[in-house]
Amino acid sequence: MTLKERALESAAQVVSRKRASNRERAFTRDIAAALLHFHAEKLRDAAEDLSKTEVERLREALVDMVNQFAYPTRGPKISTGGLSALEDAFEVLGWEDPHPTPERKCDEPGCDEHSTCGWPSPGGYRRTCFEHGKDEIWGASSLGGAEKGK
Ligand SMILES: [Zn+2]
Repeated sequence: MTLKERALESAAQVVSRKRASNRERAFTRDIAAALLHFHAEKLRDAAEDLSKTEVERLREALVDMVNQFAYPTRGPKISTGGLSALEDAFEVLGWEDPHPTPERKCDEPGCDEHSTCGWPSPGGYRRTCFEHGKDEIWGASSLGGAEKGK
């Protein structure tokens, strides 16, 4: 595993942790932003010296990083949120801000939120947003259960 992959993996773990503090999240966002910035610069400056395969691999890695760290919005779409590193990355990729991500749509009919996780349902595997998966994934009792009493 390369240094970049390790950094990305630990960044993703912190961002996805429920109990991560705001400070931890901000720090992780900074690291991700620095990596994105580095990657976008490298892709832009070195494109002439790289083979087509190398450019394609860098582009794929940049798309993966942007998908992981850009801000999800309704649509579903992802946005730079005004973060300069993400703006650079979107520019390199030739993407509008926000960029549509239909492949990440919640599979609940009529819902235009991002799917956040997949889970097995009696009718097959589903990918839903938090709202449409919370009861099945975490159970109604674990969210707000304390308010309902015993
Ligand atoms: Zn949904």
